[in-house]
Order: sequence, then structure tokens, then C-alpha cells
Amino acid sequence: MKALGENICPYCGVGCRLSFEGESDKVLRVRGVESAAANLGGICAKGAQLGPTIHTPDRLSRPQLRLGRRDDFRTVDWPTAIGYVREIFVNILNTYGPESVAFYGSGQLDTETVYLIGKLFKGHFGCNNTDSNSRLCMAAAVAGYRTSLGSDGPPTCYDDIDHADAIVIMGSNMAEAHPVTFDRVKASKSRRPEQQIIVIDPRRTATAVNADIYLPAAPGGDIALLNALGRMLLDLGAMDQAFVAAHTRGFDEYRAFLLEQNVNELCHVAAVAPEELYRVAKILQASKGFLSFYCMGLNQSTVGMWKNNSLINLHLLLGQIGKPGAGPFSLTGQPNAMGGREGGLLSHQLPGYRTVEDAGHRQYAEEFWGRSPGTISSKPGLTAVEMFRDLEKGKLKAIWIAGTNPAVSLPDLHQVRRALAKAQLVVVNEAYHPTETSRLADVILPSAQFGEKDWTSTNSERMIGYSPKLWPAPGEALPDWQIIARFAQSMGYKGFDYADAAQVWDEYIQMTAGRPCDMAGATAARLREVGSLQWPCPTADHPGSKRRYLDHKFATPDGRAIFLPRENKEPREVPDHEFPFVLTTGRLYAHWHTLTRTAKADKLVRREPGPFVEINPADAAKLELEADDLVQITSRRGTIQLPARLREGVSPGMIFVPFHWGDLFNEGNATNYLTISAIGRVAKQPELKFCAVSLEKVPQPRKRTMPLPMAAAQPVTIV
Ligand code: SF4
Repeated sequence: MKALGENICPYCGVGCRLSFEGESDKVLRVRGVESAAANLGGICAKGAQLGPTIHTPDRLSRPQLRLGRRDDFRTVDWPTAIGYVREIFVNILNTYGPESVAFYGSGQLDTETVYLIGKLFKGHFGCNNTDSNSRLCMAAAVAGYRTSLGSDGPPTCYDDIDHADAIVIMGSNMAEAHPVTFDRVKASKSRRPEQQIIVIDPRRTATAVNADIYLPAAPGGDIALLNALGRMLLDLGAMDQAFVAAHTRGFDEYRAFLLEQNVNELCHVAAVAPEELYRVAKILQASKGFLSFYCMGLNQSTVGMWKNNSLINLHLLLGQIGKPGAGPFSLTGQPNAMGGREGGLLSHQLPGYRTVEDAGHRQYAEEFWGRSPGTISSKPGLTAVEMFRDLEKGKLKAIWIAGTNPAVSLPDLHQVRRALAKAQLVVVNEAYHPTETSRLADVILPSAQFGEKDWTSTNSERMIGYSPKLWPAPGEALPDWQIIARFAQSMGYKGFDYADAAQVWDEYIQMTAGRPCDMAGATAARLREVGSLQWPCPTADHPGSKRRYLDHKFATPDGRAIFLPRENKEPREVPDHEFPFVLTTGRLYAHWHTLTRTAKADKLVRREPGPFVEINPADAAKLELEADDLVQITSRRGTIQLPARLREGVSPGMIFVPFHWGDLFNEGNATNYLTISAIGRVAKQPELKFCAVSLEKVPQPRKRTMPLPMAAAQPVTIV
């Protein structure tokens, strides 16, 4: 066995640097790199089990094309595939205009690819319809940071865990979704038992069982809880008057808003005992460092931005930001979700945390790309859910999907399937085939994945990480940036003839110079030497920045952070007599997203072989359900059947279903056939954490064999 080299893990946003060992291109062992700041040698089961996911029979090695959706795919060469896509794109663009096409990408895509997508679609087509599955997980965090602090991007770093006196984890099951970072929280706690870990979550998760204080808040009660906490802190006189006076604005309005609140009513809405919340307030008052972690539980909501604002309000009130051990820390779900935000993949963005609405930002990008004035549209493009709505309506004609599996991960999957069926052209860049989405495509383009290309990403703590190519990509698979560059060149566009990924990167970082996410000093050559650098890193001799806002100058025009009073709002679809239960969805330790990789790792599949529904035993008793009984779950959008797991840790009136398993596992039985596609007004993030469902015991449990989709997986029998 020999060392193959190091790469950033392709799964979650922790961004662990891993070392790969093996023989003749076969990865046999994966370990965490001890010198890597993100993981300090840590690794979780998903990272450790990457080996069996790399060279699998379903790896896509050559482009696939079919002329009709009922036809089989046939293998074609690159010029044929690119030429076909080009011909249809040109026809559609000429006939219907730039807003008739869209690109739906992913936090799996490296920054080089993200940058070229924006350059092509926004800078050349004049079409802002580029978005990403980050819209499903952190658009609300982006909007929260921007509105409260003036800029996206966390102020914090992982080292803050060791400096915090109190860590509040809200709406995040870190223990399963960001395990290596949570291991660090546990290690810190064991070194300093006085450190207080407070977990707020409707479900007693693996994270909650490690807490000093666990508040089982009602789903949808987050803003009420945060406002009640704000009022308690105000009444305790806990505010940092000097910080608030010198570095914030809007405090008087926030104070007046809190004084109008009835704490007992708020606690009732949030389903927490006022005495318990008061304990938390006292801990925060006494803490020199208050760090908060949050993720989908706050973000996947029609008021996700407001939830983010409400949490950040507490940090501002206490002056707990811009110093070690303090600040609001949004955890990112994917290896390069942050890079997508920095590079301008979301539909309102341009590279370097610029926006399409800003005339100066548009002008800068047009000049940088050598485009004529007015090329970039001032209208934000369609977001993830909106793209699929417009596809179904026929307004959008073509969609290019890369590194994501929306036929499992988007809400209201019946709608998603209708939308894809209506599209004139569906192009999918994928490393594997079939996925639930690739099998609905017209053209599938084989992507080189981690380890098979030079690529750059940014993790949750703003750490830019370079990963080198370690082994050959299968067959003719190409890095996504090369696929986009080849397509752009076929369209006749200049400025896409890059020699390598380093050249793309070095062009991109020039657009970040002077911006909040300044990485102009993190050149390709430097990253290839040192591996990782944390932005802001404005010059070639800058060491990178662990924390932001240490001078308490925020990214707003006047340098002050903004208090934003937010009222509690109900989720879009609340339980009623017909659909009396709340469905909440989430992730499991052993799996990642839509199983495209993790279903190939036998050890992970054995740990979590199939989907289930968690239900409180009291509710189960009312429905005469026993463990493993099959339950029919129905929402206004669909019906699925899953075996029951009885769990005290799930609040009565609520059920939990992991979202990982799609149609390849069991046709028509994915969780997101149930979820609602309601989106927030600003962040446009769908409310994947809350919809109303009814439950019914399936009368005669039948023995069902559900074949797992991939070669490595074994059939699972559910009785
Ligand atoms: Fe990969 Fe995340 Fe696990 Fe680290 S914690 S090994 S980044 S899945």
C-alpha cells in the first residue's frame, strides 16, 4: 500500500483534509490529516469509507445521449455531446431569449466550475438563472448574514470552540451531519467541563444527548424562543452597552420590540419552560465567549432569514461577535457550498459577494469579462424551486444540472418530475449513472470527481483548500470546469481557453480583491504550496484570517451591525384535522444527501440499510402501531409508506423521516414526495423542515424486499 496523496473530503462542509492510501488506483485506506486545521486528524465514517465509492460499476466514463425520453442512452464522443447541447441551447436562446435556460448546480462543484458558470450564463448569455442546491440548505444563512452584518460569510472559525464558554447548537444535528466538528465540541467539553453546551431542537438527536441543557423546542418555534431569550437578557441587564452603542444600529427599535413581547406567551409558542430558558439566559450572561452553531433547522424555513436575524440579534446584544470564542457560526452542508456563494453561483450573485441588482457590481463584472455594458441583467434569476416551477409552466425550456440530484432532494418531487418531463432539454453532469435525475436526462456528461482533478473549495470556516489530482478519472470523464469551458468555446465565446484549473482560479480571485471575501493573496501557486488559507487573504504575504470583524467594523455602509426585530411566523402549512402531524426531515450519520456515494459503501449501508419514520410511542399507541409496522404517510402532495421506529425523543405530534433514499431504492417512496415547496420571500429557501401529514397503519404488513440500487449493497428485508 502506498500513499496516494491528500484531498478535501467530498461530503460535508467541515472540509476535512484526508490522506488516501492504496494500490494501483484503488483506495484501501483513508485517514484524517493531523496537520489540517479543519479536522486535526479527525475523520468520520463517511470519509473513512470513501474507498468503495470511487471505482464502481456505475461510474460514468463517456458522454451519453438520447434523442427521445423513451429511447435508451447511447454512448457518444465529447464533440457530439457538446455539439448537441450547443445546437439546442442556441435554438432556445434565439427563439425564447436568455431567460429560457437555467443552470442548477451544487456545493459539490469546485470554485473553478462555479466561476465559469457565472461567467458563461451571467456574463455571456445575459441570464441570471444559475442556482445551486445550496438554496435548499443555506440561502437563509446567506441572507441572514447579509442583512444583519452587511456581508455573507461566518465571522468565526473552528478554533472558537476551544475559546467559548457557552456553545448554543440550534437546528443542527452536528453529531451526525458535521461529526468531526462535533467531536471537537465534545473534546473541548471534556477538557473544560465548565463549558456549557446548549442544544435546541425539536428532536432529541445524537447532538442533544451530549448537551448540558437540551430544550426540545416546538418545530417552527425558533423565533419565539430567540425573542424570549432576548427579552430575558434585556431584563437581566446583560447587554454590552458599549458594544451596542459603538458598533450597531437599530437597538432602540429592537429594545422596544422586545419590551412589547410577553415572555410566557413566547415560551408557550416555543414549547419551552420559561425557567429552563432563563437558565440559558443566565449562562449566556455569564459567558465571556458565546458561540452559536446552526444549520438546516433554522434555514429550511419560509422565515429562515428571520430566524438567522433573531439569533444574530442576541450576539449583537451581548457583544458576542468579533472576538475569540464568540459569534454566529452557520454550518455549511457541502464541501464547497461556501465557494459557490463566494463565486456567485446563486441566482442573485456575481463573483466576490457581488449582486446582480447592484449597477456598480454589474459594470465591474462586465468590464472584467470584456463584455459590453448592459450584458448582465439586473433581475435576479430563478432560484431552485422557481426553476422547476417555470419548467413545468413551459417558461423555462432547458436546464443544465451538475453535481446534484434534484429528483430526490427538492421538495414536492411529483412536481419536480412533471417539470423535468416538460423540459425540452435536460443536461446532467454526473460522476455516476443512473441517479434518480440522470435517468430523466437527455444528455449525461461524465464528471471527474474529487481525487481525479485539481480543484479548490471553501469550507464552513472560510478555509480555502486546494486538492490535487491523485488518480486518473474513469474513461473520458472531465472536470466540470473543462466541460463548461468546452461548451462556451463551442458557442464561439472568447476567454474560456484555460490551460488548467490554476489559470481559472487565478483569474477568479482577481474579482475578489477588495471585497469582504478577498482571496487575492491565495494564488493557485501559493495554495499548491501550503494547501489551505483562510479568507480574507488580500495579499500574497498575508497569512489568512481566522476571524472577521475583530475591529468591530461590519460590512455595512456605516460599519455598524444591524438589529432586526423579527416576529414569530407560523410555517406555511400547519397541522389541521385532516393532516394532524408535523413532518420534519433530516440526515443520518451514515449517509450523505441522496446516497449517490454512500450507498456503495457496504459498512455504511449495513449501519443504515433503509428509510424509516420515527414517531413518538404515545402517538404510535393511538394509531395502534408497533415498531417496524408499515406506516402510510400522506401530505397534500403525496403518499409514501415506511417502517416505524418508536422514539421518545421525537415530540408527540411530530414525525421524523431521513430524506436520503430516492426512487432508485423504492420507486415513488422518497420523503420529498411529501414535502412542501413553499419558499421564503427573500432567501427563497424551501420549508423542508415542516409540513402537515396524516398517518395510517398499513393494515396487513407485508414482507417486502427492497433491492438497494448499487452493486455493493445487499437486499434489505423489511417485515
Ligand atoms: Fe467528510 Fe464531513 Fe466526515 Fe469530515 S466530517 S470526514 S468532511 S463527511
